Order: sequence, then structure tokens, then C-alpha cells
Amino acid sequence: PSPVSAYAADEERDAEVNVRPRRLAEFIAQDRVREQLQLLLAGAARRGDPPDHILLAGPPGLGKTTLANIVAAELGAALRVTSGPAIERSGDLAALLTSLGPGDVLFIDEIHRIARPAEELLYSAMEDFRVDVVVGKGPGATAIPLDVEPFTLVGATTRSGLLTSPMRDRFGFVAHLDFYTPQQLDALLVRSARILGVALTPEGAVEIAGRSRGTPRIANRLLRRVRDFAEVRADGVITREVAHAALRVYDVDERGLDRLDRAVLTALVASFGGGPVGLTTLAVAVGEQPDTVEEVCEPYLVRAGLLARTPRGRVATPAAWIHLGRTPPPGTFG
Ligand code: ATP
Repeated sequence: PSPVSAYAADEERDAEVNVRPRRLAEFIAQDRVREQLQLLLAGAARRGDPPDHILLAGPPGLGKTTLANIVAAELGAALRVTSGPAIERSGDLAALLTSLGPGDVLFIDEIHRIARPAEELLYSAMEDFRVDVVVGKGPGATAIPLDVEPFTLVGATTRSGLLTSPMRDRFGFVAHLDFYTPQQLDALLVRSARILGVALTPEGAVEIAGRSRGTPRIANRLLRRVRDFAEVRADGVITREVAHAALRVYDVDERGLDRLDRAVLTALVASFGGGPVGLTTLAVAVGEQPDTVEEVCEPYLVRAGLLARTPRGRVATPAAWIHLGRTPPPGTFG
């Protein structure tokens, strides 16, 4: 990667840390989830117990990591962070679980990707605060039971459908995060601009909010890109015109679709006559992993009414044809 992109990555990490809300009251929108979490935390605090395990489900960038941090902060507890793919052997998980302090919050991102033996170990830890560590192999193998301090697991997943049902059943609370409305992203941008010291007019905020694909992480990223443009090519103030011109430079269209989103729709329409086409075929056509297309692009394309998932495959809606400046063929969708 060029020095420019390495710098961009550092900048993004620092900026995330700065604008990331630390308490539930600062977390914008998702009112229902906020109220439910608030009750869960307050109830546990009254009883002096760690709260039930929490599952956060939803597309990337909607605030799952942020909420895990907030849960720990509201509880005044330590947060330990890992991810499903990072837990390769159940021994790694046993070591992590037995090192938790009382009341700690353990955040497991991408929990649907945890390996099966580790998942089974996690069940007993979640339910009985106990793990059986198997020592040795074959007939001489023995299971040594180890205690785990009472803890709260916060699991995050972009694919709650992929969780096994015994896993899902062990969470006392499941929060489904939904895409944010442009109005909610508007409020988020105003907050971020204040923290970052960026001059953002109300019209400028509306322009960015409408193109952020319902996603806070994208809204914050576009804000920083538009700020660059405003500082370099204008007087530093993000007006509607400045935002509009900047987003054109960054290839973000009026509906917030980026290059990959448009590539997916274009392939669907131009190469496959609008579908139906299977996910893998579509992913190969745009040179991406099927997982990326499914978890990163599709949720928003579906939500925006541009793509439909049918039993026979992916289908472009008439709105997708129109968005690409083409005429939808009659009777291809319905
Ligand atoms: P992933 O699943 O990919 O880890 P995520 O859903 O965990 O993504 P976060 O990293 O928590 O997403 O959030 C992305 C960014 O958006 C963070 O920088 C955070 O500051 C901001 N953000 C997310 N949700 C909110 C919110 N409700 N209010 C204010 N800022 C938010």
C-alpha cells in the first residue's frame, strides 16, 4: 500500500476513537435497542449481577463494536475483545475465559465464524460459568473442569442466520441493528463535525447523510473525505455544493452507492439480463468474495430496493435498471 493509504488507515482509526460514543446516552438513534439495553443494564445493576449475554446482529458499520464498548463502560467493567476467526482452538478460548475477572465483558466479533469445538466450550461457559478442558488424547484423556468468573458475553454478527440455535438460545438479549435514516445520520454527522472541529452547514450534512448508505461508519468516513476537499479546494466550510463536488470526486453516487455496489448492479443487469443469478457467479463477475458481496453490498442494495434475493438467485429490480440509466425489460421482475 502507498504511504497515502497507510496514513489514511491511521487517520481512520484515530478518528474512530475520537468520534465513537462512549455512553449509551451519546449513541444516536436505534432508540428501541438503546431502551432495551438500558433496562437490561439497570436491572442487572440493581441486583448486583452481571447482565445476561447480549447478541448484536446487523450489517457492518452500524455500531456493534461501539455498543460493546458502551456496555462495558456503563457497567464500569473491563472489556476483552476477540473475534470468531481468531479463536482457532478451543484451548485458546479456555485460556481466555479462565483469565476473565469477575464481571468482565467479553466481546466476540463475528461470533458466527467460531469453530465448532470452541463453540461447545463457550456454551458451558455462558451457561454454567464452567469449562471442561480436555487433557491428553485417546483412552487416557481426562476432562478437567475449570471455573470461569461470572462474565457477560457480547457477541456480534453480520449473519445471525448462521448462528446455531443452541448458540442463539444462550443469549438473554438479541438486538437487531437496522440501517439509519438520513435524518439520523444527519444528527450523527453534526455530532462528529463538532468533535472533529469541522465547519459543516445543515445543507452540507443533508448532502452527506443521504449518500451514506444508512451506515454511521460510512457517514463518518465521507465526512473526513469531504473535509479534505473543503480544505484543499474551498474555504474549509462544507456546504451543499462542496459536499456534492467532493462526493463526485470520491465516486459516491446520489444514492450512496460506491464502485463495488455499482459493479454488482451493472454485472447483474448487463451480463445476466437482470438475473436471477447465483451469488457465487455474481461475485466472480465483479472479482470479489461471495461473502463480501453478500454481507457488505447486498444488505443495503436490498434495503434500497435495487436488488432482490429470490430462491432462484439475485434479481435486479426495475429501480436498479433505472438507477443505471437503462430501461427495465418488461416482466422480468415481480
Ligand atoms: P463492524 O460490525 O464492522 O465492527 P460495527 O457495527 O461494529 O461495525 P462500529 O465500529 O461500532 O461499527 O461503528 C462504526 C463507526 O460509526 C464508529 O466510528 C462509531 O463512532 C460510529 N457510530 C456507530 N454507531 C453510532 C451511533 N449510533 N452514534 C454515533 N456514532 C456511531
